[in-house]
Amino acid sequence: MSHPHIAIVGAGPSGCYVADALGRKLPAVRIDIFDRLPTPFGLVRGGVAPDHQGTKNIARQFERTLGKDGVRFLGNVAVGRDISYEELKAAYDVVVITTGALADRRLGIPGEDLDGVYGSGAFVSWYNGIPDGRELDPKIGASVAIIGNGNVALDIARLLGKTPEELAASDLCTHARVAFAAAPVRDIWLIGRRGPVEASFTTAELSEFGELARVATLVDPAQLPAAVPETLPDEQKKLAGKNLDVLHAYAAKGEQGEQADRPLRLHFVFNAAPLKILGEGRARELVLEKTRVDNGRAVMSGETFTIPADTVIGAIGYRSTPFPGLPFDEARGIVANDQGRVEPGVYTAGWCKRGPQGVVPANRADSLAVAELILSDLANVTSGAKQGAVAVDALLQLRGVQPVDFAGWQKINAAETAAAQTAGDGRPREKLTRLPELLAAAHT
Ligand SMILES: Cc1cc2nc3c(=O)[nH]c(=O)nc-3n(C[C@H](O)[C@H](O)[C@H](O)COP(=O)(O)OP(=O)(O)OC[C@H]3O[C@@H](n4cnc5c(N)ncnc54)[C@H](O)[C@@H]3O)c2cc1C
Repeated sequence: MSHPHIAIVGAGPSGCYVADALGRKLPAVRIDIFDRLPTPFGLVRGGVAPDHQGTKNIARQFERTLGKDGVRFLGNVAVGRDISYEELKAAYDVVVITTGALADRRLGIPGEDLDGVYGSGAFVSWYNGIPDGRELDPKIGASVAIIGNGNVALDIARLLGKTPEELAASDLCTHARVAFAAAPVRDIWLIGRRGPVEASFTTAELSEFGELARVATLVDPAQLPAAVPETLPDEQKKLAGKNLDVLHAYAAKGEQGEQADRPLRLHFVFNAAPLKILGEGRARELVLEKTRVDNGRAVMSGETFTIPADTVIGAIGYRSTPFPGLPFDEARGIVANDQGRVEPGVYTAGWCKRGPQGVVPANRADSLAVAELILSDLANVTSGAKQGAVAVDALLQLRGVQPVDFAGWQKINAAETAAAQTAGDGRPREKLTRLPELLAAAHT
């Protein structure tokens, strides 16, 4: 088929990579990329830490994709709310689901609904200014327990640990800057069910704590093996070896010397599974059970201990959110698919296909492979009777939905960067964080 109509649902990295790949191979293709937000780039804007600006540079590449002939960005259009999955399938020859995964996996322990307990997805959305996370207003106390041993847990600990000066050149939203500066944090506990060898955080992120002005990095040397077990797969052995080196260096510093005067103590706690959160209305303490690792799995020991925790943040992974009619694998929390094929004419890529693992570039190969599948399936389709944009635009108009197009996003971008220049302190952008503000900027 020479002029297929293609809908991509989700303008994050995976959606942009798929659009780019299809655009290169099918010059006459018409691609509509929908996003529920008025802004594109998914977690590059709403997940990646605001003090890691280098990682966000990839957005420039995605911007070029969205600006190409034959590609339309339709922001502020949520599939399942403004237009249904069935309507998309009726309008387009191909539908690609790239909606990511940012619904928090719950800890599943008593006390999880107390005040002061948050999922990392909600917490990250709040500090990154995603409109539906904007009003979280988290209660950040003196003792913050972060459960999880991945990079998201480290991001949260680092942002809480940085001084306002260290955060100056980030695009942390003003409401979060104010909240972090006012937070009385004295202790941060980074808790892993398994040991340092099994931790999935990366060494660059782990090492950053050693450079923070007010953070003392505390590790009990007894929790660290002298070396990484030889039996581990090579990749894990390499990562764990480098992480262990950093952790041993932290442990060697101890609580004395330069660390003694630091006002914020970051405690690495390994081999500890959360059992319950105690408190009356508000979280007060976290009860943990010691574990040991057997064949890569955490095994409970029966021995418990308690740490003070008036804020608890669960950073243990995410699930995708399906919309009505979409085949969904409830157990894994992903779109049901076979190597990216969902049902005839429907495909999926990225975090909603594979689950919430992998950095931005990891989605590229996945998206390219799915684009290849689409191309080979399209080669067997001869006639196209679908109406594409014509049908969908009519439906949206009928429902009073006004999409934010690429020019609208550029206006938001311009407003945010202009506001940052006014602030004049080196921040790259001052995000608009509420839906009415974003829509007003887009439609001026
Ligand atoms: C807190 C955090 C920090 C991270 N930090 C880094 C990092 O430093 N470096 C790195 O390389 N990677 C990082 N990652 C991983 C990276 O963000 C992901 O690999 C990548 O964003 C996944 O891309 P995706 O397109 O599959 O999903 P997403 O980026 O989540 O994009 C999905 C898009 O779909 C849209 N959408 C969802 N539902 C609908 C709907 N119903 N209708 C229309 N649109 C919809 C969403 O609004 C979103 O724009 C981080 C992830 C998180 C959570």
